[in-house]
Amino acid sequence: MPAIGIDLGTTNSCVAVFRKGQVEIIPNEQGDRLTPSCVSFTSEERLIGDAAKQEAPINFENTLIQIKRLIGRTYDDPVVQEDMKLWGFVILNDGNKPKIPVVQCYERKVYYPEQISAMVLEEMKKTAENYLGEEITDAVITVPAYFNDAQRRATKDAGKIAGLNVIGMINEPTAAAVAYGLDRMNESERNVLIFDLGGGTFDVTVVKIQESIFEVQATGGDTHLGGEDFDNRMVDHFVEEFKRQHDVDVSVDRRALNRLRVQCEAAKRKLSVSTQAKVQIDSLHEGIDFRSSMSRARFETLNQDLFTKTIETVAQALEDAKMSKDEIEDIVLVGGSTRIPKIRELLENFFRGKDLCRTINPDEAVAYGAAAHAANLSNDESSLIKEFQLHDVAPLSLGVEVGGCDMSVIVRRNTNIPFKNTKNYTTSVDNQSSVLFKVFEGERAATKNNTLLDSFEIDGILPAPRGIPHFDVCFDIDANGILNVSGRDRATEKCQQIIISSDRGRLSKEEISRMVAEAERYRSEDALWKEQSEARNMLENYTYAIKHYIENPENCGDITVKEQSKVVDKCNEILGWIDNNKNTLKKSFESKKEELKSFCLPVLSKISGGTDLLESLEKKD
Ligand code: AMP
Repeated sequence: MPAIGIDLGTTNSCVAVFRKGQVEIIPNEQGDRLTPSCVSFTSEERLIGDAAKQEAPINFENTLIQIKRLIGRTYDDPVVQEDMKLWGFVILNDGNKPKIPVVQCYERKVYYPEQISAMVLEEMKKTAENYLGEEITDAVITVPAYFNDAQRRATKDAGKIAGLNVIGMINEPTAAAVAYGLDRMNESERNVLIFDLGGGTFDVTVVKIQESIFEVQATGGDTHLGGEDFDNRMVDHFVEEFKRQHDVDVSVDRRALNRLRVQCEAAKRKLSVSTQAKVQIDSLHEGIDFRSSMSRARFETLNQDLFTKTIETVAQALEDAKMSKDEIEDIVLVGGSTRIPKIRELLENFFRGKDLCRTINPDEAVAYGAAAHAANLSNDESSLIKEFQLHDVAPLSLGVEVGGCDMSVIVRRNTNIPFKNTKNYTTSVDNQSSVLFKVFEGERAATKNNTLLDSFEIDGILPAPRGIPHFDVCFDIDANGILNVSGRDRATEKCQQIIISSDRGRLSKEEISRMVAEAERYRSEDALWKEQSEARNMLENYTYAIKHYIENPENCGDITVKEQSKVVDKCNEILGWIDNNKNTLKKSFESKKEELKSFCLPVLSKISGGTDLLESLEKKD
């Protein structure tokens, strides 16, 4: 059973496998190599991928997009608060965890972001299983390099809910570097800069490829910067224009906003190849049509600060890697938004006119690298895979608070992982009986400017003057970038181990187990739905075939008009029954088919070719 690599993107997802000495990108049932990371709930079923995306303009309350932006975040996170205003669906606050209510098959249901991401992952799993013809459980899932601990763990939880065994996680730009460098492992040492600008996230990573070793030198980025932000800028611009023209605020109308966003995204893509794009929407709001256009120059101005920010991040990553621009041999573009001409121009100018590498597919590189990593972790025997080694880094500094406000760093940003470091701390007052360690993530000296991940307490400290007790605090980051923290009182040997982020927007073990069971139930509901719809289609085809056959006068020379209309009436009766019983059990459709067959047989057997027709229809089953 091979292990697969899944690029779980904000906008699209992609799955790949390493087989017979090479990586294959796996197409979905429609033949597409990318599947929209979109889930939609209708009155009849749950849709995932392209079918779900089609629902977005009409069924926007129940069509969930960009869920990666929510994963591992708390409800009060400013990013969540801002995004909520733009989506057509609603976000609820459940003990500071975001939850999404939907109406599914006339029933109200509420989901955590992990469950929605799990549905996308499950779809990718199914895509791989159909392609490979066997059950798949082992997978590597990619995450933006800049994802924090909570976001990584929540992504792993989503994998678990989807029935996957997540054997590893790999940073997206590192995966892209693997895709780029896998067949260049024998070339001389080279420094590669991966510029990964997708739908929702942005990552820059500097990787040194030396023989078969891929060593990340530095990473930087923004977990909330990408194509959707550029779309939103355009949406805001047109909302203002509509207000000026008609004196009405279209932003209060979620449906209108959603339709506008779909058009803006299309216009943005057009602007990558033309200098002008039209945006036209009939009856956008209160029956008013919207007709406008966007020039490439205006689009670039609207996003100037965001585009510039990407270049500043590149400069910072080089500084962190202690490298100059000239030491970078290749600049590799990853993610759909790197097709924007201005982004390419800024990057080329920054690197003094250096050509950008276009040899890898920006949409597939991440899944490609993830599949190679998955094969590597599952000990694939191919020499190509066996040889390569990955050394990634921690994207953010981690530490504990000291003196009530200062950050004491235990793991520095861009430290190679896996990594373990222990630091020693003491008490600040005499006879202190307990000490509270607050774990933070971030680059600022004052903890108030960093992100609190979690805290733990060591109590039962023996009475002693301040500065005498000793506590060892150990930060242990695994190869997936996941942090485990432990604290030990040297005198009492008392230990505290914490799973970071347990109360910061993450799900408990029990919740995950419940969701795994729930996902299994959906799986069987989906299978039942598929079975029913196949049986329904089969009955419908069967009925129409008989009806069309008997309605053709050329076939009815041997029967009376009365007999002919008896069969036609029966067919119409069955078709009417199907319309009223769409969600009936498979066996009801099958028994209706038998009923029709026995009814028609006496008449059809009088016609030459009549029984042959029934036989051929049976074979089609
Ligand atoms: P990814 O997350 O890599 O799948 O990238 C998806 C993002 O790329 C979306 O925001 C798309 O709108 C954007 N995108 C895809 N193609 C283009 C294009 N030709 N020009 C500009 N943006 C694009």
